[in-house]
Amino acid sequence: MSTTEPRTEDVRWDLSDLCADAGQARAGWSALVERAAEFASRYRGRIASLDAPAFRALCDEADDLGQDLSRLQVYTFLRLSMDATDVEANDLTTVGRDRSAEIENDLVFLGLEWIALDDDVAEGLLASPELAPYAHKLRVEREEKPYVLTEAEEQALNARRSIVSSWQALHDRQVSTLEIPFDDGEGERPHTISELLSYLYRADRTVRLAAVDALFDGLKPRADVLAACYDALVGDRLAVDRLRGFENPMQPTNMGNELDDEIVEAMMTATEEAHGIGRRWFGAKARLLGLDRLELADQYAPIGEARAFSWPEAVEVVETAFGRFSPRLSEIFKGCLDAGHVDVGPRPGKAAGAYCSAVSKDILPYVLMNFMERVRDVSTLAHEFGHATHNVLALEKQSWRSHRCGIPMAEVPSTFAQALADDYLLGNESDPGTRASLAADRLENSFAAIYRQTVLARFEQRAYAVRMEGLSLGVERLNELWLEENVKYYGDSLTLPEGYAYGWSYVPHFIHVRFYTYAYSFAQLVALLLYRRYREDPEAFAPKYLDLLAAGGSASPADLVAPFGLDLRSTDTWREAFAELDAMRANAEALSGA
Ligand SMILES: [Zn+2]
Repeated sequence: MSTTEPRTEDVRWDLSDLCADAGQARAGWSALVERAAEFASRYRGRIASLDAPAFRALCDEADDLGQDLSRLQVYTFLRLSMDATDVEANDLTTVGRDRSAEIENDLVFLGLEWIALDDDVAEGLLASPELAPYAHKLRVEREEKPYVLTEAEEQALNARRSIVSSWQALHDRQVSTLEIPFDDGEGERPHTISELLSYLYRADRTVRLAAVDALFDGLKPRADVLAACYDALVGDRLAVDRLRGFENPMQPTNMGNELDDEIVEAMMTATEEAHGIGRRWFGAKARLLGLDRLELADQYAPIGEARAFSWPEAVEVVETAFGRFSPRLSEIFKGCLDAGHVDVGPRPGKAAGAYCSAVSKDILPYVLMNFMERVRDVSTLAHEFGHATHNVLALEKQSWRSHRCGIPMAEVPSTFAQALADDYLLGNESDPGTRASLAADRLENSFAAIYRQTVLARFEQRAYAVRMEGLSLGVERLNELWLEENVKYYGDSLTLPEGYAYGWSYVPHFIHVRFYTYAYSFAQLVALLLYRRYREDPEAFAPKYLDLLAAGGSASPADLVAPFGLDLRSTDTWREAFAELDAMRANAEALSGA
């Protein structure tokens, strides 16, 4: 590798593919508001009178609008991600939020008029060849129809939205303003919840144990208010579900994810049957750490010492791992890098974490990283480019509207891409500490996504059931449900501290999107299943997998994975994923010398 390779801090976004500057973005927002209003004035009240070619023209025009909206939204969002303190970016964000709301309001009639069409008229349109590029998404929209109430009822329900968000805001504020005094060895100072949680990845056990105790001691005084927020929201959701006629509290989420209740239950059952894999690793990890048994605080303790990875080296790993699978994937990766669509190094004011934003059919996606030369940053790079390659291939084949998947499928290609890079590293890395660290990290991330997210979903099911029986969700009751569901996973393989009963109290998903979490279990498990198919027959698998990526959101998850012989309704399918997870566990144990 040449010495002129770029340094981490020099690899920054070039946003010129999106917009020249903030001035152009403002002008773009104004023009788009006018365009949406003009579009609405042409079509509002007319949907029922359109034939298939006219309906197709409407969909195409809405698709173009959607992409121009996306371009401005992404530009606005990226500007703020680059520097949260930039006044111009903040002003633009305000403009973007207001204009987006105006545009959405103008376009709301589209969905409503589409749902209002009689079934035979809608079916006639959906069967026409003109509407093929939009048919699946249009069909999914209409599935809501039986649960939509009269206009006056919907308005009344909408009117209580601000009360609902007040409960959510109260919860968020209670959690985000919590400052817990803690001494990490360098003097006591106030800590946020996520700062305390970050100590769980420290090598120093005393600090880990103390951080866990401090966290739950800190949550205890706020638990009563946090429970009251949850109780109010669950009660409200159940009341609205009754009016709409939903059969169970999970149904709205499952419908949004395009997954049958049966699929979700088969997955969760198989997950619970396989708790033994997690417990076995906890036993092995206790031996590695020289303990009789793990405490909760040891769950994510580091294993092995990994070496540093430079940015050029990370690029080489991902490019090679992708290229071995299919040259198409490495081409897209290189294309995004060459176009200046990756922002790599951490900087003051820059957004934390990592993400990938799709833009439109004509513009390559943008990726944000906070690359700190850790082996896990190499995995994250592969993960985000799993999203990017998915976006590019789906947008080549699908309409804008049909390219996007819900979280259950959207996280599959990213998880798969991460597995490609991790496997490449495990096979080619010579430093034993790095291999041990990577294998353990990968396994524990999978556990967190698969087991913990399912525990969270089961806890929610219990809470809704209790509330439906007419019992309130107070602190004592939530503590009890939380411990019961967690003990099902951990068994006696790991000691839960007394305060862990309060572990439910700060989880934002319970408050914002019910049953949100199982989508992560789903994505991890489907990625494992696909990876297993890939290892069985790499040559036959790769082209089929590229077809899956190109299909985007044009079919339901069950239909998307059917060509791989996966029947998601069968518990046996999911059991196969756990055979793959168990192989990962065995590998992590072998590499770490457990
Ligand atoms: Zn992701």
